[in-house]
Amino acid sequence: MTGETNHTCCRPTRRQLARIAAGTASALAPALLAPVLLKPRSASAGAVAQPARPEDDGFMRQAVDLAASNTKRFAAVIVRDGAVIARGFNPGRSAGVPRDPTAHGEMVAIRTCIAEHGAEAMHGATLYTTGEPCPMCMGAIVWCGFGRVVYGVSIDWLSTRMHQIMVPSAEIAAQAPFRTIEITGGVLLDETKALFG
Ligand SMILES: [Zn+2]
Repeated sequence: MTGETNHTCCRPTRRQLARIAAGTASALAPALLAPVLLKPRSASAGAVAQPARPEDDGFMRQAVDLAASNTKRFAAVIVRDGAVIARGFNPGRSAGVPRDPTAHGEMVAIRTCIAEHGAEAMHGATLYTTGEPCPMCMGAIVWCGFGRVVYGVSIDWLSTRMHQIMVPSAEIAAQAPFRTIEITGGVLLDETKALFG
């Protein structure tokens, strides 16, 4: 062996692909799994793209205002039964705040919601966020049982300005067929874009 990668031998065989599809391929290298797992497993995939609703602008504006008033870019509000029950923004590298790379606006809002209302409050609720949820946040949104996610700018657009993990929120939801989540993007697009300069 010379140490060079032999791409032919790295390709999965038909038998390996069958094991991957069946979920029995835990011994295989993650790099081998990635291209396959990115495809929805079944027609029961859990993401449903939906158009904006009349109330969306108002709640998104609350998220935009929360970000802007704190001179931040990413903020989220959680809405249940027509009312905001939790808020959060990404503090970033704010002075006096311990650095926490997981403190995305969605995660901060979720933690606040759990602390103030309990996890049950998120079941079927809607999360509004200025930027499309990253895979970490979207995973949390799935596990928390949200019924709907509404965002402003997309991961694609954000990636032109900062590092992004290039997995759309719909793809994460599609891999969780045990949950159906409505997803609406592009709400208050001009205002959310303006947050990012
Ligand atoms: Zn995130």
